[in-house]
Amino acid sequence: MKLVRFTHEDSTRIGKVVGDGVIDLSAITGPGASMKAMLDRWEDLRPALEAAREIAIPLVNVTLEAPIVDPRKFLAIGMNYEKHAQEAEAAGIKRPTSQLWFNKQVQCINGPYAPIDLPMISDKLDYEAELAVVIGKRCRRVAREDARSMIAGYMVCNDVSVRDWQQRSPTFTLGKSFDTHGPIGPWITTDDEVADPHALEMWLTVNGNEKQRTSTGDMIYDIYDQIAYLSEAMTLEPGDILATGTPSGVGIVTGDFMKVGDVVRVEVQGLGHIENEIVAEQA
Ligand code: MN
Repeated sequence: MKLVRFTHEDSTRIGKVVGDGVIDLSAITGPGASMKAMLDRWEDLRPALEAAREIAIPLVNVTLEAPIVDPRKFLAIGMNYEKHAQEAEAAGIKRPTSQLWFNKQVQCINGPYAPIDLPMISDKLDYEAELAVVIGKRCRRVAREDARSMIAGYMVCNDVSVRDWQQRSPTFTLGKSFDTHGPIGPWITTDDEVADPHALEMWLTVNGNEKQRTSTGDMIYDIYDQIAYLSEAMTLEPGDILATGTPSGVGIVTGDFMKVGDVVRVEVQGLGHIENEIVAEQA
């Protein structure tokens, strides 16, 4: 399934995309239910969600929202593609000797086609194409071989970064968490529809010019290692989002940062794309 949150006629609901339409699932999930609340009941609700055959609303008549707006965690791993680790090292960021996790504060979550703010206080606005994993089961101390069964699905993500603010602090937190800097979507593609999450082409363009391209198979620590490692420390919960790292080609290396009017687009093979315009932040 391709699970979405969509707005139609002033109400936002959970649905699934089928072809070029959206089937409203709110009769099953309950009106106003959050995706996180739905994923909490995932095993119970799934058969009914899969069976729903109501008449679809044309996709062109709805606004797709961020699939999840209220996760408990939005964690991201840094320097997780070899060529990106090399370019970041050259830009003065020390290469980690273990998985390097940081927080994107959840308020930065943004819609798949919503504007991204160029902050008033920085001109170092950068993009990072990423595959995002959505956790589907509460879990702790997960063995690598069991990790995949904890995944609900996958999204496209742009780990938007304010580089001067990121580099001021070893935690990265502020530079990764500006309002609007976590666009995700356009939907959660459930795990059963992805043959191998480490065999997906991923690419990013700014104004149509390609800046990043990789296979998700080029991760240094793959998704299962990530879930095993994180869950050594903390309970992972349904709806938690893990951004799994970006490949080479980011603007901090070229000095080519995003400006007002730029359109940044990230696509992952089979998962759709997100596309966001840069706008000036309003006071
Ligand atoms: Mn990142």
